[in-house]
Amino acid sequence: MRKILVVEDEGKIARLVRDYLEHAGFEVVVAGDGEVALAEARRSRPDLVVLDLGLPGRDGLDVARGLRRVSNVPIVMLTARGDETDRIVGLELGADDYVVKPFSPKELVARVRAVLRRTEAASSGGTEVLRVADVEVDLPRMRVVVGGRPVELTPTEFQLLAAMVREPGRVFTRGQLLDAVHGVAFESYERAVDAHVKNLRKKIEPTPGHPRYLLTVHGVGYRFADA
Ligand code: CA
Repeated sequence: MRKILVVEDEGKIARLVRDYLEHAGFEVVVAGDGEVALAEARRSRPDLVVLDLGLPGRDGLDVARGLRRVSNVPIVMLTARGDETDRIVGLELGADDYVVKPFSPKELVARVRAVLRRTEAASSGGTEVLRVADVEVDLPRMRVVVGGRPVELTPTEFQLLAAMVREPGRVFTRGQLLDAVHGVAFESYERAVDAHVKNLRKKIEPTPGHPRYLLTVHGVGYRFADA
C-alpha cells in the first residue's frame, strides 16, 4: 500500500484529506507542523507528500526545501488562492504539482494519483538508455548522467528531460511540455514549466545562465540541443 504524508495544520482539512485518501486505498500519515513533517518523512519514507504551504512556524516552502535536501519524494502543494508567488517558488523548489484552496478532495485525490502514475511511468517508461552528446537518460533506472556525473532529479524534472532528450532538436511549446509531464488535464500553468526548466538547468548545465543543452526558443518554448 502506498503511503502519503499529509502536512496540514488545520485539523478539519487534514481529516477530510486523510479520509478521502484512505478511501482511495492509500495509507495516510498526518503531520500538523513542519518539524513533525520532516521527522515523519525521514521515519516513514512516504511515496508522496501533500504539503500545505500555510503552516505555523516553519512554513511550507521551508518544509519543501528541507524535503528536497534529502529526497526526491513527489510533492503536491496546497496553496491559497492568489498566492501565485508561493506557487512559483514551490515549483522552483521542486514541488511536482499544486492544488488551490478551497479544493475538492476528489480533485486532490486525482492529482495525487496522477503524480504517482507519472513517477511510476518514469521508472517503467522504457527499456532504453537515451544518449545525446554527454547527457545520458536511463529510463528504466530513472537515472541521469551528465558528463559522467550522476544528477539527482525529481520525477517531474526527469519526465521533462526524458521527453526532450527523446527528440533532440524538436521545439516544444510550454503546453506540450506540460502534457508530457502531466498526462492529465491540468490547469495549464505555463510558468510551471519555466520553473522546472530553471531547476533542470541548475542541475544539468555547467553554466545555468548560458545553457548548452536545454535551450530557450524565444516566444515558443524549449528544445534540447541536438549533438
Ligand atoms: Ca494551513
